[in-house]
Amino acid sequence: MTEITRDVVIIGAGASGLTAATDLKARGLSVAVLEARDRVGGRLWTDTIEGAMLEIGGQWVSPDQTALIETLENLKLDTFSRYREGESIYIGRDGKHTRYSGDRFPVDAETAAEMDRLIVILDELAESVGATEPWAHPRAQELDSITWQAWLEENTDNIEARDNIGLFVAEAMLTKPRHAFSALQAILMAASAGSFSNLVDEDFILDKRVIGGLQQVPLRLAENLGDDVFLNQPVRRLEYTDDSVTAIADGITVKAQYAIMAVPPNLYSRVDYQPPLPRLKHQMHQHMSLGLVIKVHAVYETPFWREDGLSGTVFSPYQLVHEAYDNTNHEDPRGTLVGFVSDQHADKVFMQDAEARKAAILDSLAAYYGEKAQNPVVYYESDWGSEEWTRGAYATSFDMGGLARYGAMQSTPVGPIYWSSSDLAAEGFQHVDGAIRVGHDTAQAIIARHES
Ligand code: FAD
Repeated sequence: MTEITRDVVIIGAGASGLTAATDLKARGLSVAVLEARDRVGGRLWTDTIEGAMLEIGGQWVSPDQTALIETLENLKLDTFSRYREGESIYIGRDGKHTRYSGDRFPVDAETAAEMDRLIVILDELAESVGATEPWAHPRAQELDSITWQAWLEENTDNIEARDNIGLFVAEAMLTKPRHAFSALQAILMAASAGSFSNLVDEDFILDKRVIGGLQQVPLRLAENLGDDVFLNQPVRRLEYTDDSVTAIADGITVKAQYAIMAVPPNLYSRVDYQPPLPRLKHQMHQHMSLGLVIKVHAVYETPFWREDGLSGTVFSPYQLVHEAYDNTNHEDPRGTLVGFVSDQHADKVFMQDAEARKAAILDSLAAYYGEKAQNPVVYYESDWGSEEWTRGAYATSFDMGGLARYGAMQSTPVGPIYWSSSDLAAEGFQHVDGAIRVGHDTAQAIIARHES
């Protein structure tokens, strides 16, 4: 067992941990980043599968994600815009397949008016609740004790309006069933993206991608940190006092003054803390859980939908694949579609064997794009639920009632141990931008304490 000494030990080489490590090192503190996997990046993972470059994890960058955009500029990474020329497709409650332009679903006038009305209410709530301290809002308790589904039912009798508005947060963001999280949690999701209207606007939220893949962010940050990043080192135990901490991984022990747990909160309890964490932290960590979504990649010889005047963007709360997009790589002659199967739909298809699951998912893509969608040359499912060091996708959120009950203490350090990940972010919550923001803030908090 190698033993080393550093000012700060960082557990997890995702965007958040590597950002914190970079800031700390730039300020003259010595660091060691211990990563469980044999690669850096965590939920950012760009790989080549059967000759096709795929973004297995996070990929999109939106204009409000200024911390991520700044990092991309610093690392000299270029972006390209998602293909969006042509019409989109919506499949309604009646099973009708409709082509449309713009960001308003082609629903009947009454449903459209209800959707508009709900969006106005949710924009107002997002603005008033905010992303920074949703638990401190006067209506926090009330909104955290009602499910997102119940809130929708209370606010409209129009089922299709409810299903569509519900989708923007449940299937598309938190990737949990609508009855499994609160209205407050849904409003936080909207506030963290700037507004509910931003969530509805896919041209905003899914704006750009990084040429060569978003995993280059952690790869380049790790490259700059050099020998301070240790792979294949799952941290099993943290022994701490008020002002010192020892991180024990499989092949290395790091003695430090501070530790940063830069892992998703659902994995906090995988580490043995000595002494045990305070009671309320133990309680809170049991209420932070990861959603589940299958990201499906289907690569075709050509982007055939474009010839048909389609952008590739499709939506339906009534389909197995609830949303899909043209995800063709920069200057790639082949065409790639990316689709998503969320929460209970994912549970259901994971009970099938791989062949039956693929057939069900391709049938759903064909319902939107026609029979040509049945024959991809490369087909791949990102299955984050079976990744030991993540256990779901995209990120964690509180179960019912947890945000108002515990939110205020989610980031408070325990002695020398700090917490850093996208799951704890205000702006950029659950996104790479949030991971980077929290990484900067955590480093800043340690620097301030160290220099005081
Ligand atoms: P992570 O990336 O999870 O990093 C944590 C690291 O800790 C991992 O490397 C893990 O291996 C390591 N670790 C865990 N336990 C231990 C231990 N005990 N010891 C040592 N190491 C440990 N965001 C966007 O902005 N845009 C998108 O388009 C987008 N799409 C997504 C699609 C998918 C399929 C997924 C999964 C996520 C997506 N996200 C997206 C979310 C985004 O990827 C994450 O929010 C972000 O990457 C999280 O970064 P992080 O550093 O907080 O955590």
